[in-house]
Amino acid sequence: MAFVSTRGAERVSAPEAIVRGIAPDGGLYAPEALPAWSRADFAALARLDYPARAALILSQLLDGFTQEELLPMARNAYARFDDPQIAPLRALRDGQYVLELFHGPTMAFKDMALQFLPRLLTASARKQGEQREIAILTATSGDTGKAALEGFQDVPGTSVTVFYPLGGVSAVQEKQMVTSAGKNVHVVAVKGNFDDAQTGVKTLFGDPAFIDSMAQRGKTLSSANSINLGRLAPQVAYYLSACADLLADGKADWDTGVNVCVPTGNFGNILAAWYAKRMGAPIRKLICASNRNDVLTDFIRTGVYDKRRPFHKTISPSMDILISSNLERFLLELAQGDARQVRAWMERLKTEGIYEIAPDQKAVLADIFFGGCADDEKTRAAIGRVWREEQYLMDPHTAVAEAVARDYRQETGDPAPLLIVSTASPYKFAADVAQAVGCPVSGDAFDAAQELEAFTQVKAPRQVAELKSLPVLHTRICEKDRMGEAVLAGFDD
Ligand SMILES: *Cc1c(COP(=O)(O)O)cnc(C)c1O
Repeated sequence: MAFVSTRGAERVSAPEAIVRGIAPDGGLYAPEALPAWSRADFAALARLDYPARAALILSQLLDGFTQEELLPMARNAYARFDDPQIAPLRALRDGQYVLELFHGPTMAFKDMALQFLPRLLTASARKQGEQREIAILTATSGDTGKAALEGFQDVPGTSVTVFYPLGGVSAVQEKQMVTSAGKNVHVVAVKGNFDDAQTGVKTLFGDPAFIDSMAQRGKTLSSANSINLGRLAPQVAYYLSACADLLADGKADWDTGVNVCVPTGNFGNILAAWYAKRMGAPIRKLICASNRNDVLTDFIRTGVYDKRRPFHKTISPSMDILISSNLERFLLELAQGDARQVRAWMERLKTEGIYEIAPDQKAVLADIFFGGCADDEKTRAAIGRVWREEQYLMDPHTAVAEAVARDYRQETGDPAPLLIVSTASPYKFAADVAQAVGCPVSGDAFDAAQELEAFTQVKAPRQVAELKSLPVLHTRICEKDRMGEAVLAGFDD
């Protein structure tokens, strides 16, 4: 299967798309076609363990990789997860399930892809005959950063530089990043918000002088953000896997299907769900849940993408995003493959901060997605309510999804089974979760985790306890227009 840039006609193989990260024209690589799965394929998938499922699915999504080659990569990628099912399903209440994606080393769903990406990337580089060191540049709204640092730590032939918004991530997220060990890892705080950091990284990818400076140091650039195809493919796997389990266990039936609600920021996770649906997964409505940064809610409801609005810091910081990069891949499909159309929209977004799709495209968008949002107050209320009613502890991102899914059911009366995607451990955001469930906290964000554990008796991952005492290894701070210099300084000192 080939991949095309969302902004041009160029076709590349999967290994090439993964090594490059982003297309030279600034577009994202999107699949030209997707495999079609039958009911029997889902039944067969349900009989495999998670790494075997992932290897099978990736061998179909990524040309140039065989199942035999992918299976050991998948086994290694998921070896450090603290649940044997890797991405377990929990029954929340009748007909409602939670897909827990936070059992990896950094306690957020980013591990599902970022434990895999370094293996895919180094294998892709070999296939492409790439000799240079691959320098990963990544912007993070909180969780990608640590997951990338953890995934690429001391991987030969790679280095990773992570940019995070100064003051824009949670205390635990920041501590996780600035304590990262490894000879090839760099962490820089940017004076700006996530969109500034993400735009800065994208600009570096298109900056000939910077690319040249890196080349002089024997390095070529790639990305670990969800713009990289190697991030997206492992995410499609858990949707197919979850559907296979729901069907096999009789929790969903083929004809009714299941609604899927995803807490969304950059539109990567929910895009993977859309690809799973396109492959034949019995997914009905895709419910796109946002926090107070509700640009996607408005887009789905009106067809107008307007980023010209205040940026809000929320208790679900990994979704504090106004420019949802991965939406571009969906736009290519809305435009029926017309990359010129996508380029025009992205140009307008860049110059005017707004674009509007055509009426027939709005109808398609609204048919596939439901958009909703929850502010911090509603998010806290959801955490408290679900804890009291179901004794299930949700992190704020998951809670945004639960709150929006509830609105969806009330608004539409749709009785189909519901899958809520849980993207982080509640212990990653322990102070806010403790407050929401009425657990008194006396100390800082790290003590809050212990207190929350004692209060709820829900077991905390051991990484949380270790974090408080780890030494800070990274202190670099840069202006948002000086990110290139910060990268080079990291290599030169
Ligand atoms: C990254 C992240 C999200 C948003 O995912 P996107 O793929 O950017 O939409 C939601 N929740 C958590 C905990 C995250 O880390």
